[in-house]
Amino acid sequence: MAEETQIGPSIRAQLGKATPVIGRFEAMILLGFVTGRTRENLIAHDDDELTDEEIMRFDLLVSLRAAGTPVPYLTGTQEFYGRHFQVTDRVLIPRPDTEVLIEQALLVAPAAPRIIDLGTGSGCIAVTLALEIPGAKVTATDSSSDALEIARGNADVLGADIRFLEGFWWDAVPADEQFDLIVSNPPYIRPDDEHLRNLEYEPLGALTDGIDGLECLRVISAGAMARLSRGGWLLLEHGYDQGADVRAMLEDAGFAAVRTIRDYGGNDRVTMGRRAD
Ligand code: GLN
Repeated sequence: MAEETQIGPSIRAQLGKATPVIGRFEAMILLGFVTGRTRENLIAHDDDELTDEEIMRFDLLVSLRAAGTPVPYLTGTQEFYGRHFQVTDRVLIPRPDTEVLIEQALLVAPAAPRIIDLGTGSGCIAVTLALEIPGAKVTATDSSSDALEIARGNADVLGADIRFLEGFWWDAVPADEQFDLIVSNPPYIRPDDEHLRNLEYEPLGALTDGIDGLECLRVISAGAMARLSRGGWLLLEHGYDQGADVRAMLEDAGFAAVRTIRDYGGNDRVTMGRRAD
């Protein structure tokens, strides 16, 4: 405490204080959030003095971050495919890996497609596809009403017209409906995966099926063929070591043109297949 009182109130001093604790990059994001200043503004005006209240709020966020809370849960926002999505700890934080699913969906989408996103979470996939594909008719589901509320808010703010349905996977969807594109980023981490321990701030139900990591992928692919129009595509995000399993799943379900796409880190990430004519 005595040490802290010697630190001046300038932006430079405050960033200097936080950088050894959480790194300069995140310190800038949090200070930008507290002050409403852009990164450029913080750099250009680093002699400016912060108010006591700003310093107090900044200190609190830095300590929460140091204790493990992910930055998007502190600022309430995460960028995905060039847009800002609101997030809370009731939804998974959108990941750059999932942008691979978007890119592939854009490549195979027919004109004015009917799209369904199963387990939409923050809504980042559904909203992005609705805004990127002219004439798309998008449905998004989630079993969590909290998630649907957040996804609805994102759709409203970003101007996407989406129909939301509550329920588990296909249970949420009227039996006779057909789609041209079925997409999902379901929980796929194995419950015994060590990686899960680093994700303790995110909702467990969005990360793991509690079984073998493949259960939700199985349920979604088993029901997909009956809901796809001829020539329609199913695109599934999955774990780095699940490519072969998901390809087998799709081939067993009768999909054609089954292939796996890697993410920017070079890991298998999205497997897709087509309902042949
Ligand atoms: N891609 C996330 C991760 O491994 C997991 C997302 C998911 O289970 N759908 O951090």
